[in-house]
Amino acid sequence: MTQRIAVLGATGSIGDSTLAILAAQPHTYEVYALSGYHRLDKLFALCQQFLPKRVSVPMSAVDDFAHRLKAAGIDSDVVGGEAGLVDIATDSQTDTVVAAIVGAAGLPSTLAAARAGKRILLANKEALVMAGKVMIDAVKKHKATLLPLDSEHNAIFQCLPLAIQQDNTQIHQSNHGVRKLWLTASGGPFLQQSFEQMQQASVAEAVKHPNWSMGQKISVDSATMMNKGLELIEACHLFDLPEDKINVVIHPQSIIHSMVEYSDGSFLAQLGSPDMKTPIAHALSYPDRMDSGSQPLDLFALSGLEFIEPDLQKFACLRLARQAMQAGTQATIVLNAANEIAVAAFLDGKIRLTDIANINEQALNDIQLPPLNETADIEDILAIDKIARHLTDKLVAKLT
Ligand code: NDP
Ligand code: MG
Repeated sequence: MTQRIAVLGATGSIGDSTLAILAAQPHTYEVYALSGYHRLDKLFALCQQFLPKRVSVPMSAVDDFAHRLKAAGIDSDVVGGEAGLVDIATDSQTDTVVAAIVGAAGLPSTLAAARAGKRILLANKEALVMAGKVMIDAVKKHKATLLPLDSEHNAIFQCLPLAIQQDNTQIHQSNHGVRKLWLTASGGPFLQQSFEQMQQASVAEAVKHPNWSMGQKISVDSATMMNKGLELIEACHLFDLPEDKINVVIHPQSIIHSMVEYSDGSFLAQLGSPDMKTPIAHALSYPDRMDSGSQPLDLFALSGLEFIEPDLQKFACLRLARQAMQAGTQATIVLNAANEIAVAAFLDGKIRLTDIANINEQALNDIQLPPLNETADIEDILAIDKIARHLTDKLVAKLT
């Protein structure tokens, strides 16, 4: 049967990789819905190619976009804003939601998909960083399926026993011999450079990742290693483990995408070329396998795999993520919000790359909120996010 897919964040980097796979398998997958935000010309071209039944754009662009599609003879229903994304994510015709919007903007639609019991292919790690418990509770309660696209989490998922894969919140209770998870990190473009060199980095240098081609925000996050910090928090929620059961190791070649360490001394690793099409194809076809179109790994061309302990002074964001995870959800919301604001300020040329960690640390220290209680819901989370953004704007303004 054809699987109907909604790609939220279709105009981005994960959107590109997903749609490349879907285009190659038109009989298995129907591109049912797409969303875009700024890059509406690109979204229009995707609509011409895939003829989705539904499209979501910013509210202010709905009329224009609908008119443009109609003039081109494309009969798609155009919806707008956050409500439009939620509508598509919960549409009874949608089987699978690819959650590939960047940042907090992706949370409402991802959570709505969980509450509608959908199969969710999760790239939007920020949704779990902000609302891990709420998301996982919704997945369980509404029998949704949550499959990680983030290459590290997808690798760990693949290395876990089937019983845990089928109920990925089981490690904590019945650990099946799982001792630790190992998240690999490339170390980003500044691994071999000094902190002082990192301080002087231009935007172009910061977004030039050595191994992966990604959107701007995650590329900056990789340069500061905040990405690994967010992934650490993401892994705690996805696999129901405390942060001290998750290690981070720098592996500059990005060939091993992460590992599971078992009590008998076994380490299971997933290897592959650094190409997001592999984890996306895995999650799309899970529990089967499909051709992803990625280059097979040439083992004979590999010349040594390195493993390095991260320098937490140079990459302070990684230390902050552990600290926030220990402090609780209110802190991970603050860290995520502060980081989004700081990264945007860096991309705008307002602050230096190394200011991002300072701003994140100051936000974590200054914005002291009481822990969220057990019944906290999305409104409580978004309220903290708003406070944190507001106060971080002020921290950025002080520096500029
Ligand atoms: P991109 O910046 O390339 O794409 C982001 C997508 O989100 C675009 O479609 C963009 O629309 C849309 N978008 C941006 N802001 C909003 C908004 N306010 N409301 C609705 N839609 C919005 O990012 P990536 O594809 O690189 O990353 C997407 C997510 O996947 C992130 O959470 C990232 O951490 C995660 N991820 C990415 C990986 C990668 O290899 N790229 C790897 C692992 C995880 P438009 O472009 O039209 O403005
Ligand atoms: Mg990743």
